Amino acid sequence: LSGLRAGLARTREVLNADISELVTGRKEIDQDLLDELEMLLLSADVGIPATTRIIDDLSYRVKLREVSDPAGLLRAVRAQLAEILRRNDAPVRQPGRGKPQVILMVGVNGVGKTTSIGKLTKQLQAEGNTVMLAAGDTFRAAAVEQLQAWGERNQVPVVAQHAGADPASVIYDALQAATARGVDVLIADTAGRLHTKVNLMEELRKIGRVMKKIDPDAPHEVMLVVDATTGQNALHQAVQFNEILPLTGITVTKLDGTAKGGILFAIAERLPVPFRFIGVGERIEDLRHFDAEEFLDALLA
Ligand code: GDP
Repeated sequence: LSGLRAGLARTREVLNADISELVTGRKEIDQDLLDELEMLLLSADVGIPATTRIIDDLSYRVKLREVSDPAGLLRAVRAQLAEILRRNDAPVRQPGRGKPQVILMVGVNGVGKTTSIGKLTKQLQAEGNTVMLAAGDTFRAAAVEQLQAWGERNQVPVVAQHAGADPASVIYDALQAATARGVDVLIADTAGRLHTKVNLMEELRKIGRVMKKIDPDAPHEVMLVVDATTGQNALHQAVQFNEILPLTGITVTKLDGTAKGGILFAIAERLPVPFRFIGVGERIEDLRHFDAEEFLDALLA
């Protein structure tokens, strides 16, 4: 927990230290206090909808005298934040017997998608799984090379074709190979050209279609990777990708070194998609399984 706390230090400074400081020494709750609280939530990128709902609810409860002192207000804010995160907790779908679990990774360039694939591969291997990678971001030669480098480092096979190849064809080949070899998990990278939304939609849907020819249940997970340092952009990306292809999981990277970690609440308020992993640093183990209670403890307690 201390590692997680350190990784979340900057957001924790706002959502824990600054909010606690705001209420200490105060005798009563006035509009000023509520306004300042609102500013703090917004500054941590909790977002307008969630923040407005929290403040409205608190104001109402203050009026009813359900919440009557600043310490009570602090407890109530934390309870509200906790409630938002606890809503989304669907498990990852499991593959049929003897079939690979297919994780389709989506997200725009630079968010930490490739790095997350590498870290996840390492962790899955450590848990005793065999892994295969599919270089489905054929748009950038560098993306294919980067994935191949991770494959070499982790000694896992990477199915790739030349740059510009049809991503659906690469991923189809990979799923066929993974099935034939009895691989446990296939992680497929994809291009994240959100600015050409129609093309991306066609590409991702085609990938989904061809996978289903081999395994009607694939992909078992459509995981979006977003970068916490981009704040509200991460939310916009999540909304847009979810329209293109319904997401089943979200990974939030780079929570270390940003005070914008409140973006998880903004995303959870908007989309019923569970968080799977959070990135709090560059090391393999810094990609952590997301656990709402642990996250809340590290952030708020
Ligand atoms: P991609 O374009 O989405 O595949 O992005 P990359 O995987 O190449 O990552 C972009 C940069 O973000 C790299 O320098 C990574 O080391 C860095 N990165 C990824 N995740 C994290 C994280 O959780 N914390 C920090 N500090 N850096 C990260």
